[in-house]
Amino acid sequence: MTDSTPLSEFRPVRSGLMTGALDDLASVGLAGSRCRACGETTLGANTLCPNCGSDDVFPIALSDEGKVWTYTVVRYRPPGDYKGAEPFQPFAIGLVELPEGLRVVAPVGGDPDAVRIGMTVRFTARARADGVVDFVYNPAA
Ligand SMILES: [Zn+2]
Repeated sequence: MTDSTPLSEFRPVRSGLMTGALDDLASVGLAGSRCRACGETTLGANTLCPNCGSDDVFPIALSDEGKVWTYTVVRYRPPGDYKGAEPFQPFAIGLVELPEGLRVVAPVGGDPDAVRIGMTVRFTARARADGVVDFVYNPAA
């Protein structure tokens, strides 16, 4: 949370992506969906299965902890509407594998040179200065 953004103005980085109250970041998690027809698990609150097209899909909670499946380090300021830290700081982007069987693309917090494949990371919601709530996976303690 920031001191300058009224709580009512927080919004998720993508609709249907998060569960919990955006004005209570500790309560925020990732929404997931599972298909009864084929078992596919997907990120976000979905009404159709992208694997088989079934509409027999139900919401599930996704775990807060996962493991870095792979990652890269962004060492130069991305072009366009970059909304990260100013001044720019290198950061890691990981594919985080969750126990539910899907992988999530997200920044990995902490020292980007300390990130390793297989390390355990934990979902952390954060509010940007523009009121958008996004998330990072931080190394688990
Ligand atoms: Zn399906």
